[in-house]
Amino acid sequence: MSRTTIDFGIDLGTTNSAIAELKGVSTEIIKNNSDGDITPSAVSMDKSGTVQVGQRARNRLIESPDDAYTEFKRRMGTDHLYAFKNSGQQRSPEQLSAEVLKSLRADVQQRTGETIDAAVITVPAAFELHQCDATRRAAVLAGFRECPLLQEPVAAALAYGFQVSDQKGYWLVYDFGGGTFDAAIIKADEGAIHVVNHGGDNFLGGSDIDWAIVEELLVPRLLEQHLLEDFRRGNPHWRQAFAKLKRAAEMAKIDLSRSERTVLETCRFPGPDGDDIEFEGELTREQLIRVARPIIQRSIEICQRVLKEKHLESSSIEKIILVGGPTLAPYFRQLLTEGLRIPLDHSADPLTVVARGAAIFAGNQRLARPASDADSTPGEFAVDLKYQPVGMDEAPDVGGRVSGAEGKALTGFTIEFSNSKTQWRSGRIPLRTEGVFLTSLHAEKGSRNTFRIELFDTTGQQHPIKPDELHYTIGAVVQDQPLIHSMGIALANNQYERYFEKGVGLPLRGTRSFRTMQPLSKGQDGALLRIPLIEGDQTLADRNRRIGDLEILAQNIRRDLPTNSDIEVTISMSSDRIIRIMAYVPLLDETFEGKIDMARHTPDANALANDFQIEMKRIRETIESSKKSESAEAEKAAAQLEASPLLEEVRTLLKSTSGDPDAAAKCERRLLELKLRMDEVAGHLEWPTLVSQARKTVNDVTKLATQQGSSMHRDRARELSDEVDEIIRDRRVDRIERKLEQLMKLFHEIASAQPEYWVHFFSMIEKDRHKLVDPSRAAALLEQGRNAIARNNTVMLQTIVQQLWALMPNEEMQSAQRGYQSGLLR
Ligand code: ADP
Ligand code: MG
Repeated sequence: MSRTTIDFGIDLGTTNSAIAELKGVSTEIIKNNSDGDITPSAVSMDKSGTVQVGQRARNRLIESPDDAYTEFKRRMGTDHLYAFKNSGQQRSPEQLSAEVLKSLRADVQQRTGETIDAAVITVPAAFELHQCDATRRAAVLAGFRECPLLQEPVAAALAYGFQVSDQKGYWLVYDFGGGTFDAAIIKADEGAIHVVNHGGDNFLGGSDIDWAIVEELLVPRLLEQHLLEDFRRGNPHWRQAFAKLKRAAEMAKIDLSRSERTVLETCRFPGPDGDDIEFEGELTREQLIRVARPIIQRSIEICQRVLKEKHLESSSIEKIILVGGPTLAPYFRQLLTEGLRIPLDHSADPLTVVARGAAIFAGNQRLARPASDADSTPGEFAVDLKYQPVGMDEAPDVGGRVSGAEGKALTGFTIEFSNSKTQWRSGRIPLRTEGVFLTSLHAEKGSRNTFRIELFDTTGQQHPIKPDELHYTIGAVVQDQPLIHSMGIALANNQYERYFEKGVGLPLRGTRSFRTMQPLSKGQDGALLRIPLIEGDQTLADRNRRIGDLEILAQNIRRDLPTNSDIEVTISMSSDRIIRIMAYVPLLDETFEGKIDMARHTPDANALANDFQIEMKRIRETIESSKKSESAEAEKAAAQLEASPLLEEVRTLLKSTSGDPDAAAKCERRLLELKLRMDEVAGHLEWPTLVSQARKTVNDVTKLATQQGSSMHRDRARELSDEVDEIIRDRRVDRIERKLEQLMKLFHEIASAQPEYWVHFFSMIEKDRHKLVDPSRAAALLEQGRNAIARNNTVMLQTIVQQLWALMPNEEMQSAQRGYQSGLLR
């Protein structure tokens, strides 16, 4: 058979992976060498460098923890290296993922005899760009030439038969895996499925439950029985002991999905005096639920947030579909039902559903280079087909171009499509000049339609053509994969200039203008202008993740760039998520291009500790002022923050950051959460001021727009005014400041068209003349400005005001440190 679509889907999981194939309209899991549906994502290496993948590698985690690794997906896109002690070799997370992919690929070869070089690979919806990029590199290492990435929740929804005809409403995909959690709202619109909203946490999963069992239940018991010095997870001395405890905890946890109580697997490890310590005991479901509850609760809160962000009530969600091993536990389901009050659907196996969905999606992906092309023989005709392999249309269009073998003429040739199962035939369609044709097929629902392609010459004689088959299935199409996080650049005043909002379709391209904040002198050693590219959905720039910088080096410029030079920054993202950032500087008439290095570095332990100190100080101060304030909300939010387990969690993680890079990454993430919670309390404190400021600004803008604005300005003012009302009504602490900014921008836009604006601006600067940095130049400019006013020369005045403004020492300079050292301002 010549394949024209990818057809294979891979769930490359943190803990377990699986591969499925689309056969007709149903999917089949390809079993591994040990007859399992799923393959543990674990890799080991022995002394001779021989690699093992799967269960056997997983078994070695305990006995030789320096020669086997798992959960490397958590570290995808970082520069971390895993050292295999016995063999003396090192592997990156993507190289280890590549081993898992190779093993799945080999399973296909073994079970079906087919060698595949394309598969759809799933990634968590919360995966960031550098992580997606690393996944793609892993696929290349494993020998895949094509690997479209698909978000896991979308895959799951496809496997549960989410169809475009499900117009009734939304589904919530709840995916609690071994190491990552994803919540996604799925909807079908106008013939396409898409993620309406999603949230997630790359550091939340079943393994957190295992660690909670270890740290909260097993370690205290162990320490009652034995005196063990500095017995904690990050301490390399106790690494094996912890690995054994974790393994015992996980097995007990899985047992407790079936039974009420269980006996722990005996953990044996060397104690301080050289004698072996043996640890055993029992665990009940009740104890497990106690430690697991806060972890599950965290996932429920993420779901609630994801719903709230889209103003959706639980009642608008038709059902929750469950994905991930931990959702097999009955108490898990119960806590979820209580927490979310939405019916659950767990009719598909939560461990393979993602791979199945990926395979369904793969049936919709045309091979860029169908396998048949490779072995095309000379003297044969070829057809380049244009069609969608999956769609809602029962009469899909198919077009294309036939190319003659070695320039053989195609005059008088016809092409015919036929389906042997339904006996449908297209009839012979004449080729136009250049071999072009367009026709439509007739497809039936419920199975994959196969059409034979035949080529005839003027005499009616048939000629072989490649490919000689095409497939079409009536089904839902997944919309172009949207942007996973909003993206833009950080400005020197820590504002976030968003280019693209989360959820928009790819590819994307946007250009915006800025001005430079500092001068950059040609050739100056080490001097540079930094343009930080960030992704995330928070208002303040440094509350988002920085994915890379475009740096314009002083060495590379042809002439000096003064402060306030114009600069146009373009960001583009292709459909396979390759990012380019470019800056055009008109003064130099030159374009600079940034390489976005997707690799991320392990957060520095000292920097984290330092950051936490700063945050704690801020927390204490804010809690103090919230107590003094009249605001009940601020007090409530502060009290919640004080009582939040987050503080304790960060403290605990900080202890392990230097020994355990995983803990460091998680700590960084939680610290960011903490900062956001702080921002919220601070927002509540400032709320009354912000509200009155917003109301006043709305009035000013509306008045100005009515008196001096165009009809477009008036519409925009009305729009903003409505949005402010909504924000105040919903008390959106996180959104009001941004709205204020937009109002101010509109105000200036309307006002700056009037001469009085510049006169007023000028007199403001004149009042503050003592602040201006270059007094002699300032004096000259002020003199020129007064002349321009006397002569009513607004154009002149405008440029003078701009030059004067550049001489104002900006507070913005100080906050640049927080805007990821950005060198730009709007
Ligand atoms: P991932 O998507 O991260 O690869 P999986 O969906 O394969 O993860 O889930 C792995 C997690 O599921 C592990 O933490 C494992 O302990 C847990 N798990 C597997 N089976 C069960 C079960 N029957 N009951 C509870 N947890 C389970
Ligand atoms: Mg998974």
